[in-house]
Amino acid sequence: TITQVAFIGLGNMGGPMAANLVKAGLKVTVFDLMPQAVAELVKLGANSAASANEAAANADVVITMLPAGKHVRGLYLGNAQADQQGLLDVVASHCLLIDSSTIDAASAQLVGQAAKAKGLEFIDAPVSGGTAGAAAGSLTFICGGSDKAYAMAQEVLGIMGGNIFHAGDVGAGQIAKICNNMLLSVLMVGTSESLQMGIDNGLDPKVLSDIMKVSSGGNWTLEKYNPCPNVMDNVPSSKAYQGGFMVDLMVKDLGLSQEAALASNSSTPMGALARSLYVNHARQGHGKLDFSSIFEQFANKNK
Ligand code: NAD
Repeated sequence: TITQVAFIGLGNMGGPMAANLVKAGLKVTVFDLMPQAVAELVKLGANSAASANEAAANADVVITMLPAGKHVRGLYLGNAQADQQGLLDVVASHCLLIDSSTIDAASAQLVGQAAKAKGLEFIDAPVSGGTAGAAAGSLTFICGGSDKAYAMAQEVLGIMGGNIFHAGDVGAGQIAKICNNMLLSVLMVGTSESLQMGIDNGLDPKVLSDIMKVSSGGNWTLEKYNPCPNVMDNVPSSKAYQGGFMVDLMVKDLGLSQEAALASNSSTPMGALARSLYVNHARQGHGKLDFSSIFEQFANKNK
């Protein structure tokens, strides 16, 4: 059984995920480069550590929730040239390693192979469900790894999430995740342009959203994440697009999906267009806003 957890990366997602582990009564030691993020978790009852390696030293499970592949590779593998140890060098031999960041499958496989070489179990377990799902403990985890690692991960993932899937070997979780996010970006753009066309033609976006939600255009963005301000409470669009899932991170995921499409020679015209639209949005200075802010690209600024 798991008693000691190390949680590294306490951002929009990692913060509430770690909080749920604390609330469930586990001993959680946290680390983030931002002292403020650590302080929030310490207030809730977590222990702090001076470094990621210190946090992980006595852990039964290490969970990481970082921005991108380079952060994950750096943290797990360290840097031999700079004489820096990675998490793989310091954890106990029974420790399970779980990375829930959304990163390229190749980085996940690289870390997975390095872990295996040291006799450690590593699983990629990217999530879906957004910051609301993280706070509610209702995330979907999409795992890639051995049957043994998947079985070991159930207990701790079950505290932070509802649906837990085993997509395949290490890296498979990441592939499933970027397929999902490519579709999500297309739905977010399509929902935004539809709502704005309704507004332009005199419709109330709340009424139009209610109609489309239960009609054939219904989708997750209408149900849980409406991009038009003040249609729904407690979503980023009604909080000036603060918090949530940053445009910069969606741009990263759409880059990953286009790289994967290129490698497998898949035809992904909608994903390619969505990537262009999001890159353009980021280049206009909106990279730190929530990804539903793509809605603003369709607004009529002349009015
Ligand atoms: P975020 O930028 O809010 O948080 C990342 C955190 O990692 C930051 O607090 C940062 O200080 C910390 N960090 C970076 N490098 C570090 C290091 N070397 N050591 C310790 N801490 C480090 O990002 P987020 O929204 O929490 O997303 C994290 C991951 O989850 C991303 O890969 C993202 O694509 C994915 N994701 C996000 C959402 C969402 O709705 N926000 C949903 C699903 C998946």
